[in-house]
Amino acid sequence: MKVTQEFVERMICPACRAKVRLKEDGSAIKCVGCRRVYPIEGEIIVMLPEKATIEDEDAAPSTA
Ligand SMILES: [Zn+2]
Repeated sequence: MKVTQEFVERMICPACRAKVRLKEDGSAIKCVGCRRVYPIEGEIIVMLPEKATIEDEDAAPSTA
């Protein structure tokens, strides 16, 4: 089953319980609250806070 925006909209962030969104490239989902980014491995969403990375801006990956 492919991960779709519709599917993702039914999920919540396990860290802060805000909504999550599918990233444009479909590679991950992102929390609208705490901005954690959860990877999608194959077609499985890895909703684990310890697997998440935190992104400040959509198009600005941290290089620090
Ligand atoms: Zn969150």
